[in-house]
Amino acid sequence: MVESDTGDWKKQLSECYRSVADFPENFKLSPLEAKYFKTESDRFQISIPEYYFSLASTNDDDPIRRQFMPQSGEQITLSCETDDPLGETPHKVTQRLIHRYRDRALFLASDTCAMYCRHCFRRDYLSTNPSALNKKEIENAAKYIRDHLEIKELIISGGDPLILDDSIFENLLTVFRDYRPDIIFRVASRMPVVLPSRITNSLSRLLSRFKPLFIITQFNHPKELTISSRQALSRLVGNGIPVFNQSVLLNSVNDSVDILAELCQELLRASVKPYYLFQGDLAAGTSHMRVPIIRGFEIMKELRTKISGLAMPVYAVDLPGGGGKILLTESYIQKITDTEVIFKDPSGKEYSYPVETP
Ligand code: SF4
Repeated sequence: MVESDTGDWKKQLSECYRSVADFPENFKLSPLEAKYFKTESDRFQISIPEYYFSLASTNDDDPIRRQFMPQSGEQITLSCETDDPLGETPHKVTQRLIHRYRDRALFLASDTCAMYCRHCFRRDYLSTNPSALNKKEIENAAKYIRDHLEIKELIISGGDPLILDDSIFENLLTVFRDYRPDIIFRVASRMPVVLPSRITNSLSRLLSRFKPLFIITQFNHPKELTISSRQALSRLVGNGIPVFNQSVLLNSVNDSVDILAELCQELLRASVKPYYLFQGDLAAGTSHMRVPIIRGFEIMKELRTKISGLAMPVYAVDLPGGGGKILLTESYIQKITDTEVIFKDPSGKEYSYPVETP
């Protein structure tokens, strides 16, 4: 198939399934999905590209389907859950810029996504802030970054920023670079996963003009690594753009050592570095998608014995209430004495390393 470099992805975006009425006739709602659509309450919108929909089997518990189809569990809010689980709002410094960590800032370039992931922690922002990005918002954020030289990296996220047209995205990158020629860009997008046709050759070439620029994407299951998504990744990597993956640990999607091992190894095969595995954030309506954190520790412990260090993601959590991101690493250190450090390997065997080496 010859890829149209301008038209296809926009057509596919316009044809996303956005309501039950749009689904193919033979698609049957599961009891939990039907219960969700029967209940009249605030709902996080749906949007599913036909491409991503086609990756799911008819099984109610299919790992792809669980990411795009809402279930009645979304209508339950636990007391520990909030609409702003990362505590980002107090750090908003312009309409679209969040400055929470000293050396990084987050620009919310878009309020929409090609697909709304049911585990999304920014679901409240996406439901309540739909508006088009305007030049003044970009300019205001760029001026703030110009005046705060401690910011070294700009994370461009949303929503999905690559839902913007090439010309708008190019203008955005240009304005930030003009104000801060040294800024490092990180572009967070699920487009390689849910609508890989968006990663055109022309977009890849455009992005490559703004290096240093990193793409951070989110593959959560090996089924998402299709020929199309691998080709999209290859267009990015082929244009010299490093791609990193941040998975979310999700109930009945990837809470299995074998699935994560395959995912991480296949990502490496596609020249993508598995970067983080996130514990689910405490976003309202996502408890049915979260995995108990203790189970996460167990999975990571076993995963480490199955895949190489290069393939291994770092398990991390954003602490509730704005505590920031921390790494959930298991310490192998058992004891430190004046002369040695005692380690225990994953199988439980102890080793000694001298404190001082000649
Ligand atoms: S693509 Fe990202 S921002 Fe959009 S719904 Fe999914 S997780 Fe949320």
